[in-house]
Amino acid sequence: MISSIPKWMITLFGNKLSPNVTVIEITFLSLQIKKIRFQGDISEWDFSIGYASVIRVSETEFRNYTVAYHNKENGVFDIIFHIHGNGVGSKFIESLKVSDKLFISPPRGKKLYEQNEQQQSFLAMKPH
Ligand SMILES: Cc1cc2nc3c(=O)[nH]c(=O)nc-3n(C[C@H](O)[C@H](O)[C@H](O)COP(=O)(O)OP(=O)(O)OC[C@H]3O[C@@H](n4cnc5c(N)ncnc54)[C@H](O)[C@@H]3O)c2cc1C
Repeated sequence: MISSIPKWMITLFGNKLSPNVTVIEITFLSLQIKKIRFQGDISEWDFSIGYASVIRVSETEFRNYTVAYHNKENGVFDIIFHIHGNGVGSKFIESLKVSDKLFISPPRGKKLYEQNEQQQSFLAMKPH
């Protein structure tokens, strides 16, 4: 996944990367774990297990995050963030407050979840 996009390409995407969701609730599960509830039109979104959404964390930077809960009827979903203060993504998420608007992509990814398997585990690793 590309984590930054040149400005000319952003211009090409135009409104497709404009804010599409609003922060409606923030809960700190611990000092470094921030749970945010977002609201938007998620009626067409596919929340398959193992999928991730891309959040626009600066003018040209994007990061992957996993939806932890969703309710299509109310148009809300939650993401749980680790706030470590080292990167543009973490700093952006730390700055978010209720009523802020931002761009989050519909979840996407590979279909990894096998409904008929009794035990499955997923591990997201970041190459360094
Ligand atoms: C499929 C997928 C799903 C993901 N889901 C989530 C999710 O639900 N919640 C979530 O919080 N993150 C999730 N991530 C991680 C997220 O995408 C970012 O990689 C993470 O937030 C770091 O981005 P950054 O811009 O803050 O730091 P980067 O710009 O990536 O890194 C900058 C510096 O911060 C350091 N750093 C990066 N991560 C950490 C860390 N965790 N602790 C300490 N230092 C760190 C790096 O080593 C580097 O020195 C997911 C990643 C993937 C690939």
